Amino acid sequence: MAKVNPFAIAQRQLDQCAKILHLDPGVQAILRVPSRELHVSIPVRMDDGSIKVFQGFRVQYNDAKGPCKGGIRFHPDETIDTVRALAAWMTWKCSLLDLPLGGGKGGVICNPKEMSQGEQERLCRAYIDQVGRIIGPEKDVPAPDVYTTPQMMAWMMDEYSKISGKNQFGTITGKPLALGGSAGRGDATARGGLFTVREAAKELGINLSKATIAVQGYGNAGYYAACLAQTMFGAKVVAVSDSKGCVLCDGGLDAEAVGKHKAKTSTVCNFPGAKAISDAELLELDVDILFPAALENVITEENAPRIRAKIVAELANGPTTPEADEILHKNGVHVIPDFLCNAGGVTVSYFEMVQNFYMYYWEAEDVYKRLDKKMTTAYHAVLNTSKKFNINMRQAAYVVAVERVVEAMKLRGWV
Ligand code: GLU
Repeated sequence: MAKVNPFAIAQRQLDQCAKILHLDPGVQAILRVPSRELHVSIPVRMDDGSIKVFQGFRVQYNDAKGPCKGGIRFHPDETIDTVRALAAWMTWKCSLLDLPLGGGKGGVICNPKEMSQGEQERLCRAYIDQVGRIIGPEKDVPAPDVYTTPQMMAWMMDEYSKISGKNQFGTITGKPLALGGSAGRGDATARGGLFTVREAAKELGINLSKATIAVQGYGNAGYYAACLAQTMFGAKVVAVSDSKGCVLCDGGLDAEAVGKHKAKTSTVCNFPGAKAISDAELLELDVDILFPAALENVITEENAPRIRAKIVAELANGPTTPEADEILHKNGVHVIPDFLCNAGGVTVSYFEMVQNFYMYYWEAEDVYKRLDKKMTTAYHAVLNTSKKFNINMRQAAYVVAVERVVEAMKLRGWV
């Protein structure tokens, strides 16, 4: 199968929305492309004394509603088009959650799993030396994403502070707690997603304490989703996976214990008492809720007809192709689309910015309560819109988000 270009998908999704909203073609043309992007070469001294030049990007998609916001991804398969798509989705995500922020995204083509701590630190600092001129609390605020961590955010914030000659906590979010991070940021993406799942379950009449769950991807989002599904709902996690393989246990897996096993062995594979299955099998399990929590394009027109989950809660960005979307919708699968389901991360990032500006920090319970309100409001806005226009949940999320960005552009006099 030809490799699917995520940015082409993001543009197709927007085009569908433009049709539903009868958007002015000029406005649509603005929203189809990033407002600006910076491509950088990042020289890093490696441990063996050699210099390696990495390729990096920062894309600022649209800042009509406020400073751009979005993570930085370190991945060997990163491409400018992936970063463009992710920056577009950040724009819709921030708008849908009604945050005073626009959308952006960064990426570096690298494999941090094969780099030492020192090499990672030098890469983080060198990336900020390159993109520092276009970021800042009032311009563009990066955060973690795939394969980037709170420690990396600390190095980046420190580098930016050194360049500016003052502490700049509000420039980067997802920082460690001891360095201006927010309580509740660590598991915010998963927790936010679970709030939307709770609302979806009410809508569909699913009893979550008896629900079964499969999680594809066991990074930050997938791991916490599995743990919180057990503690918040009492649900049963039957299967989880990572880039190395999948494990299944019909009687239920202890999500935290699987996390510990992965920390020790660097994979969920060979978890005692579980049996190995393939990634394809995991996606097609007969479960109540499937969490795609890894990368893009895992649910396609090829496997969509065989998806049996009642709810697909997209903690990953872009896991479902437009063709698959139609099939799932026809088959009555309730999809909680990515930029709704995984918006908890950026929502608590926004809370982190607010706390940084005020220099006053909230209790975890306050963060959870505010996050719940934001996610629940956004979920119902999308659900109501999908009913009103008789469109699927993703199209509905686009309608709500795009309308707000267009309103901001109009009020500014851009269109
Ligand atoms: N990388 C996360 C996302 O895709 C979080 C972004 C942020 O906190 O700014 O939403």
